Amino acid sequence: DIKVKTYLVTGGAGFIGSNFIKYILKKYPERKVICLDKLTYAGNLANIEVEINNPAQKLSFIKGDINNKDLVEYLFETNDITYIVNFAAESHVDRSIEDAEIFLKTNVLGVQNLLNIAKDKWEIGEREYKNDVKFLQVSTDEVYGSLGKEGYFTEETNIQPNSPYSASKASADMMVRAFNKTYGLPTLITRCSNNYGPYQFPEKLIPLMINNILSGKKLPIYGDGLNIRDWLYVRDHCQAIDMILEKGKPGETYNIGGHNEKTNLDIVETIIRKLKDILREKNEYLKKFSLELDNINYDLINFIEDRPGHDKRYAIDPDKVKSEIGWEPTIKFDEGIVATISWYLDNYNWLKNITSGDYINYYNNMYSKK
Ligand code: NAD
Repeated sequence: DIKVKTYLVTGGAGFIGSNFIKYILKKYPERKVICLDKLTYAGNLANIEVEINNPAQKLSFIKGDINNKDLVEYLFETNDITYIVNFAAESHVDRSIEDAEIFLKTNVLGVQNLLNIAKDKWEIGEREYKNDVKFLQVSTDEVYGSLGKEGYFTEETNIQPNSPYSASKASADMMVRAFNKTYGLPTLITRCSNNYGPYQFPEKLIPLMINNILSGKKLPIYGDGLNIRDWLYVRDHCQAIDMILEKGKPGETYNIGGHNEKTNLDIVETIIRKLKDILREKNEYLKKFSLELDNINYDLINFIEDRPGHDKRYAIDPDKVKSEIGWEPTIKFDEGIVATISWYLDNYNWLKNITSGDYINYYNNMYSKK
């Protein structure tokens, strides 16, 4: 088509959002992206600095809240937005257990604000929407609750969230569904399993462990470490979102995952082994971090008191996205985890800059008492 597509990517300075922006600008050099992000502790302009400074100026950045009605309306009035992709969220389960309020403000009311404005600004007549527009809500497999040893989450699985975080994401999904059923808004929901890769904030399992090893700290694991998550490399998630935007049927939900179940313990042991392999080859890093290979071993693991309401197992059945959209993961875990560890080694300044100040207070508060 002739019209150049324009994305409004909310939460695009965070982990997955920044990877998505990079993916889109590379794949479709002619398209435009507007990133709206509040820059909370988890948002980092450095994640998309290169794209913002690119002379082609395909990415514009606006610092702001998805709850800000005037601002979001203004963005619609001054741009011909084709897609909204909403990544903006409070995303850390542990923080939601400490205090859920901001999770409801951003994850529920913020989404409702975006939906409302999209409904009004995209409409051309009696519940008729402009061509091609789509509202994609980036959700999570955590809305389904927990699995036993057997079975998988399908799109038909009951929504049974167990943490304040997943309850807020489930509420948003219900609202997105309601806007589709009530107003015919062309919505899509994606529910992805756990992501890993570059630019992930080090409160999450994989970068936390890498950062701790590099800074000579113990590796805290909840409970017995046998909780199972289904891990997907972030680029594969971005590719799935892109394909679902282009091919997905309005009103539908798509689960995204790659049958890659691992216990937390397995993840941490893999990081220890792979990091050691990389350091053996990249000797200069041993000096840089004042590390000794012999000290990087399973003894670093420190089992701590379990997280309340800790879901036992998540596992995605990705049949629908495979058969209807044609998406399949492309990056094997062994490759992805080495790429991730190498990225954190090569970008240690990125890590250092965000792990000062507030992060230290948060870390001490979460892990020292256990
Ligand atoms: P993240 O915490 O790294 O990034 C969230 C971003 O949203 C940050 O840049 C933050 O500044 C921004 N933000 C927060 N509140 C905002 C507000 N009120 N207005 C505007 N911007 C705001 O999170 P992530 O890991 O990149 O996750 C992105 C989305 O994907 C979330 O909705 C999350 O629920 C979902 N998800 C994450 C995973 C995962 O494994 N990380 C898996 C499935 C789904």
